[in-house]
Amino acid sequence: MASIQQRLPENVPGDFFVDTSCIDCDTCSQLAPAVFRDHGEQCSVYHQPENEADTRLALMALVACPTGSIGTTKHHDAHIGIDAFPSLIAENVYFCGFTSESSFGAWSYLVVRPDSEGGNLLIDSPRFATQLVKRIEKLGRVKQMLLTHRDDVADHELFRKKFGCERIMHADDGASKLGVERVIEGDEPVQLDNDLLIIPTPGHTRGHVVFLYRNKFLFTGDHLAWSPTRETLTAFRSVAWYSWAKQIESMAALASYDFEWVLPGHGSLHHDTSENMRYHLQSCIAWMKTR
Ligand code: SF4
Repeated sequence: MASIQQRLPENVPGDFFVDTSCIDCDTCSQLAPAVFRDHGEQCSVYHQPENEADTRLALMALVACPTGSIGTTKHHDAHIGIDAFPSLIAENVYFCGFTSESSFGAWSYLVVRPDSEGGNLLIDSPRFATQLVKRIEKLGRVKQMLLTHRDDVADHELFRKKFGCERIMHADDGASKLGVERVIEGDEPVQLDNDLLIIPTPGHTRGHVVFLYRNKFLFTGDHLAWSPTRETLTAFRSVAWYSWAKQIESMAALASYDFEWVLPGHGSLHHDTSENMRYHLQSCIAWMKTR
C-alpha cells in the first residue's frame, strides 16, 4: 500500500502518486504512458489522468506494480484495475499484470487454448495474487508453465501447487534445483507441440530460452525487447550476466524464425510484420556489436 507521507516530490499534484518504495521496473510507464514516466531512478506521475480510459490504465498500473508503490488520494473502485487482468494483448495471448517484486516486476503472459491444442500456458511467473489466480482458473487453469530464465520464476512453486502444471526450464539456469518437471538441455531448439518451440538463447543468463508460439508470438524474457527511444529491437548490455558475445550469437540465431510479436519480461513489447521484425532484429544485432 503506497504511503502519501512517502510521496515522491517528482509527482505532479493530484489524485495519483508514486511513493519512495518504487523500484523503477517501468511497468507503470509502459502500461499507462500518459500518466507515469521514468524520471531517472524511479517513476512518478507527470500527468494526472483526465478521462476514464487513462484512469483505468492508471488503476491497472496500480494493480500491476510489484511493490504497491502507486496510490491515490481519492476513492476508486479497485475492481476496475483488478478485473482488467489477465489483459488481452491479441488473439488468445494475455498480459497477467500483478508483477512480482522478486522478479523485479517482470511481465508474464497467459496463452489460453483448449486442451486439444495442449492447454493453457503461463509464461514466467506473475505474483500469486488470489484475484489473478481465480481469473486464470476461470480461463481454464494452467497446463504448462514456461520459464524463460532463473530471474523471472517468482511464485512458480505456488502455481505448480495450485494447478499441477508442468514447469519447463533449461538445465543451465538451475531447473533441477528448482524442482522443475521438464528440464531442457543443450543449444538446439525443442518442439514442445505443434504450435510451440523452445529456442535456447544463452547470453543474459546461461540457460535463457525464448518461446515461439505459432510462428507469431515470441516470448523473449530478458533476451530481446523493443526500444521506444531508438524505435527498434534492443537488448540490455548491462544485464548480460552470462555473456554479451553469446547473446549476440543467440540473437543472430533468431533471424531464421518468423515472429510478429516481441513479448518481453522487461522493456517494451512490440507488434509488426514478420518482415519488419526481421529488419529490426538485424539492426539490433548490428547495434549490439558496437556495445
Ligand atoms: S510499477 Fe511500481 S515499482 Fe514499477 S516503476 Fe511503477 S511505481 Fe515503480
